[in-house]
Amino acid sequence: MEQLQCHVKQYAWGKYGEQSEVARLFADGHTNFKIDEKTPYAELWMGTHPDGPAQLKKCSTRLSTYLAKNPSILTNNNSAKNIHLPFIMKVMSIRTTLSLQVHPTKEQARRLHELDPINYPDRNHKPELAYALTQFELLCGFRPAREILKNLQTFPSLRLLFGGDKYSKPLENCISQMKHLDTVNQDSPEYQNSRKYLEACFRFMMVPNRSDVNDLVSQLLSELANGLRGSLEEGTVEVIKKMSVDFPNDIGIFSPLFLNHMILQPGECCYYAAEELHAYLSGECVECVGCSNNTIRAAMTPKYIDRDALCSVLNYKMTEPADYLVKERSVNGCVDEYAPDCKDFQLHRIRVETNSTEQDMMMPTLECPSILVIVKGKGTIEEATTENQLIGQYEVKRGDIFYIPPKHNIRFTECTEDIEGYRTFSDEIGPDHDTRLVTPVQCNVPTINEKMFKLDADMEEEPTAVVNVQIL
Ligand SMILES: [Zn+2]
Repeated sequence: MEQLQCHVKQYAWGKYGEQSEVARLFADGHTNFKIDEKTPYAELWMGTHPDGPAQLKKCSTRLSTYLAKNPSILTNNNSAKNIHLPFIMKVMSIRTTLSLQVHPTKEQARRLHELDPINYPDRNHKPELAYALTQFELLCGFRPAREILKNLQTFPSLRLLFGGDKYSKPLENCISQMKHLDTVNQDSPEYQNSRKYLEACFRFMMVPNRSDVNDLVSQLLSELANGLRGSLEEGTVEVIKKMSVDFPNDIGIFSPLFLNHMILQPGECCYYAAEELHAYLSGECVECVGCSNNTIRAAMTPKYIDRDALCSVLNYKMTEPADYLVKERSVNGCVDEYAPDCKDFQLHRIRVETNSTEQDMMMPTLECPSILVIVKGKGTIEEATTENQLIGQYEVKRGDIFYIPPKHNIRFTECTEDIEGYRTFSDEIGPDHDTRLVTPVQCNVPTINEKMFKLDADMEEEPTAVVNVQIL
């Protein structure tokens, strides 16, 4: 296995300095790195994507180049300059809401890329999984129909936002006709019609340059101040108030009224594929995404908003928040697996304790490549072939990140402090990024070092700098 040197993204929505787990973890794994208290550290990228490529620590060769020079089951393309993993694993530290956004399917991504390769630099899709390291909050997917109905009946501002008699009323009428609102039959004509009316409401909401947004936001805030709640919990009311401060008069302030507000506790995990409207709100997570950087934004961002693409891509499903949760499956006494319905990645949470049994300290052999990050503890790893021939022995500690080739056996032989790690893997062949356009669009961004500049189409907010943190 190979120790990696990875990249940190300094987007403005990240937590500052020592408050950021991204900064602390990166500093623990990269000894020459000094944390700056005035810098937001948003994301640690662990993968081969050109916007934040990992390098081998021993020689600074990109991992993607190393994979191309060391052909394996990953490819039968011997001429490729870079071979990409199908996933990016990230650690995220979120201080303020990221933009309200959606990701396209593979087919939609390919079409968007052909029409607009600058704003959609990847042909690949970008499913996402978030595992909560701390309390982690997000908005994800449209609320169940009964909750949307209750909020429409409670908040006149939402009815107006959704087009009043013309669009909102038919939606209310259609949901009211649904039988058994607690257990909606998604094949029923009422449900399918409701999705169409919801789309009409959403498209009306997204009409450009609406002149009534400021008034509607003020109206919503006074409705909340007067005690109206509909299906909102108090925590969600606080989210709306915070958004109104962070993004004054932004249409996204209304999103918690029609999207599920999920509050994950540490160890809980959620997954959503393409076509789901979502926004991360706060907290720290391990994120697994497809090896892509395609995002279509709806609100709460100074970045490019593509209303037509956005409205066309959404699935307008009204879903229980529990549908997005991924339950763990125990692999052995030290490893739990999170396997969503997605080929691009699976996640192992590894917890080795000083008194773990030898058998449990043996990690499952994977037929595919993987990346491992240690977020806690200290110990020793032995690496062996499938024939149990010892290849190497490594002292590992918090902050260390490794690439593990397919079919290499990994076992912890010693644990001096309880270890926690995350390992992402996939059997898929990664995308081809060698022909990707890397044009510095949206370049109203200060760059510390042009050479280090990487276009990042996933900048959720105006970043303070889009350089990758340099290893001094
Ligand atoms: Zn996203």
